[in-house]
Amino acid sequence: MTAARAPVEEEPHRSRFLHIAVVLKLIHHASAEGSPVPILLAPGPTEVAPAVLKAASHPAESHFSQSFADVFGDTLSSLRPLFQCTDPQAQPFVLGGSGTLGWDFVATNFIAEGEAVLCLSTGFFANGFYNCLTAYGADTTKLTPTAMGRAVSLDAVAAELRSKQYKAVVATHVETSTAVLTQLKPLSDLIRSISPETLLVVDAVASLVSEELRFSEWDIDIVLTGSQKALSCPPGLSITMVSSRAIDIALQQYSSQQKQRGWYASLPRWLPIMRSYEAKKVGYFATPPTQLFEVWRRHKAKAASVREAISQELGLVLLSTVPEEQANGLTACWLPEELEAKDVLGSMLKKGFMLSGGMHAELGTKYVRFGHMGYSAFGEETHVQQGLEALKEVFAEFRKVDADEGDGDSGYASPGSV
Ligand SMILES: *Cc1c(COP(=O)(O)O)cnc(C)c1O
Repeated sequence: MTAARAPVEEEPHRSRFLHIAVVLKLIHHASAEGSPVPILLAPGPTEVAPAVLKAASHPAESHFSQSFADVFGDTLSSLRPLFQCTDPQAQPFVLGGSGTLGWDFVATNFIAEGEAVLCLSTGFFANGFYNCLTAYGADTTKLTPTAMGRAVSLDAVAAELRSKQYKAVVATHVETSTAVLTQLKPLSDLIRSISPETLLVVDAVASLVSEELRFSEWDIDIVLTGSQKALSCPPGLSITMVSSRAIDIALQQYSSQQKQRGWYASLPRWLPIMRSYEAKKVGYFATPPTQLFEVWRRHKAKAASVREAISQELGLVLLSTVPEEQANGLTACWLPEELEAKDVLGSMLKKGFMLSGGMHAELGTKYVRFGHMGYSAFGEETHVQQGLEALKEVFAEFRKVDADEGDGDSGYASPGSV
């Protein structure tokens, strides 16, 4: 199976060049028979729908034009149903920046120096958020799960919440390094029952639209995400939904603080601009990104088929072992002992598909991550099926190499050992 992407009618354009810059080095290693730009089956960036690619190639536009105010205003209002946000006093923010900017946005606006924050650490990205908050002077406490590939237990969270007053609890909805899903509804219920004032902050960079997320119904205060994962847009947008309770806290903190923190990521500076554009009127603090559904059900169905193929047909063990903690936008699986991530990733790249390696200091070479989020999951394309077929071929080839060596066992052999 070699990668085949539906043709894009338009000429290559800027967003495409961005992708190209990121993957350029690796493309040089791809074989001639592969697609010139591998199909991205990684947990971000993801494939962008041809219609979106086309739309991104429109001419430059002034942020003071009515046409931009209309488009940006519609973008902001259409985020409300995407987050399942029904409170008109809550506010979506769209800033130019990557997903990580959302961490700075939270640290700058909602947590004063020395305030206590409880961070549920499920892996690499959760730790990044924890480090960011710590760098801004928050009094951070890290809770870890009992085993890699698990979510943090609610009992541990409850014990912490009873032990002291936390300003916020921070959770990573889908931990992209391990494909672990943290259930938000029970977490929110727990916080509201023990410490109702505590803010629930969610990093949904790898989960918005690939997982069920009900901002208002589940009483979440802040959800941050980025454009290039399940939303299937080019990278470069930091998107955040903030509850009215959290907006009040940010404004209060801003007016009472002697020393103002942050500038670009300041909620009080952006709030009037976002409100203005959502009302289809222009505004200015800094230039907004001018170029610019129950979808999660489809992700769920696609994810189930990928997990089944990987565990049943390939016989690989998943990192995330508990069904309700399995992410639906990516699957992480352990490799047979004889293989390393680079063997599998290299062979897949030759077939025109880019998967991701592990993201754990010691165990990163032992597992791979297969992304099935965004357009590749909910669009009409067959990227995921093609990728699975290619993966089966790759494993069959590794078995063959091993069989040829005639060492008798039925395992695998890495190309390095031939
Ligand atoms: C990718 C990711 C980020 C960082 O987003 P960037 O756009 O790379 O800055 C943060 N959190 C999670 C859970 C992610 O998957």
